[in-house]
Amino acid sequence: MIFILSAGFMIEYFKGTRALSFVLPILSVGFFSVALGTVFFLKNPLTRCVRYAAFSGFFIMYLFTLLTSTTSVTFTFVFPLATLFCMYLDRWFMTIVCSCVFTLNGVYIAAKLSSVEKLEIGEAAYNQFTTTMLIHSFVLLLFMSSLIAVVYVFNRLKKAMDHKIQEAIDARLTEQKLFAQATIDGLTGAYNRRHFVDKVREQLNDTSAATSLLLLDIDDFKQVNDEHGHLAGDQVLIEFSSIVKQVYAGQGIAGRVGGEEFAVFLLDKSEEESQAIAERLRETIENSKVRLNEEKEITVTVSGGIAYTKSNGMTFEELYQQADKALYTSKKNGKNKITLAESL
Ligand code: GH3
Ligand code: MG
Ligand code: MG
Repeated sequence: MIFILSAGFMIEYFKGTRALSFVLPILSVGFFSVALGTVFFLKNPLTRCVRYAAFSGFFIMYLFTLLTSTTSVTFTFVFPLATLFCMYLDRWFMTIVCSCVFTLNGVYIAAKLSSVEKLEIGEAAYNQFTTTMLIHSFVLLLFMSSLIAVVYVFNRLKKAMDHKIQEAIDARLTEQKLFAQATIDGLTGAYNRRHFVDKVREQLNDTSAATSLLLLDIDDFKQVNDEHGHLAGDQVLIEFSSIVKQVYAGQGIAGRVGGEEFAVFLLDKSEEESQAIAERLRETIENSKVRLNEEKEITVTVSGGIAYTKSNGMTFEELYQQADKALYTSKKNGKNKITLAESL
């Protein structure tokens, strides 16, 4: 809109009806407001300053056109047209600006009418002049009232759309919450048993590569509960789970499959690699301290059993059974150990 107004002034300048000293300041105002609006936009496109900057410049230019009495029909209606596109975004600012435009136009027309004397220009010219002015006022009124109607409809539509969008967001959030509740263990944030098993089954169906299933069981966990309380036990579970996630980050699927039992499923790793990662986890747990409160820290250990197959062809249950046997061997042999099930 600013460019259209600027073009209007430039045309007047080239036609010789405007001096350069008049046109240049107006163009400067327009381009300065565009530049300012662009700077605001680059900083934050959502800020209202963008619109305020652009419209302030526009308004000043528009005032010039009215006050210098060269208002053409284009000039009169370009501004309301611009407001039409922005009013629904920022109703109050634009309502004030529109009222000003309307009043100014009214004053302009009234001033014109009262300044022309019938006797001076003759009856025919006077009638033609008043008719033009009446058409001008009528079109202006029509335009402003349709503008208000459009703004009203826009606002209603926007409210309805906002409502629908909010409903969709709420539904999505509820869906995500329900999905999380159904798949994630509330205490540790790890996959729960059902989701873990589903995910592993999915991968077993899709692959023919080597697979490893590691079962982990915290040693003497009942003792932690008995000595330090259930909340301390929970704290240990949370820390344990976060270490499992760190060690296996991006390498496999981990889940909490029982009270103090966790499992990790790895794809396409060699026997040695699976064992090495499990050993690293065991050592990390052994060397970590769980802070229970300001004075107390405890250390726990973990035992593990690994079931490994070079080429897939086993069910989840078969793998689980083998890993469980290996875990039992670790417990029997003094705990804090990782045992590999006999090659399957
Ligand atoms: P082992 O070394 O043979 O594994 O001995 P353990 O004491 O770890 O094993 P046991 O099966 O005897 O005890 C497991 C305990 O884990 C019993 C149960 O109360 C506790 N437990 C299970 N789920 C939770 C939980 O969510 N929070 C807490 N604090 N304790 C839990
Ligand atoms: Mg257990
Ligand atoms: Mg245990």
